[in-house]
Amino acid sequence: MSFVDSPDNVRYEMNDQNRFYLCRHCRNHIVTKNNLIRYPGYLCENVVNVGMDPVRTWRYLDDVAVLNVRCNDCHRHIGERFYTTAERRYLLHPDELLYWDGSRLHPAPTQNGTA
Ligand SMILES: [Zn+2]
Repeated sequence: MSFVDSPDNVRYEMNDQNRFYLCRHCRNHIVTKNNLIRYPGYLCENVVNVGMDPVRTWRYLDDVAVLNVRCNDCHRHIGERFYTTAERRYLLHPDELLYWDGSRLHPAPTQNGTA
């Protein structure tokens, strides 16, 4: 997990083997497709290049304690992390992401599979 500034950010190869999601605002690399659990929403593991708001800012989202997750380049709010010790998972916002499909970038698909 990376909580450092952008010079050390993880970069995935933009080739035809890889599928991953990027920050829509600055194209920072965020998570590979195989770390995405589609339901509910963009539930992900092993998210990279993000930071979290201070612990004191935690809040409830659907009765679950979460912290805001921000892109560590542009600091936009792109999702939430579950604020429990057991659950190292993230809920990312598809409308804040781009998707690299192996040949080109396009808006991240929404839950029903359309862009
Ligand atoms: Zn960004």
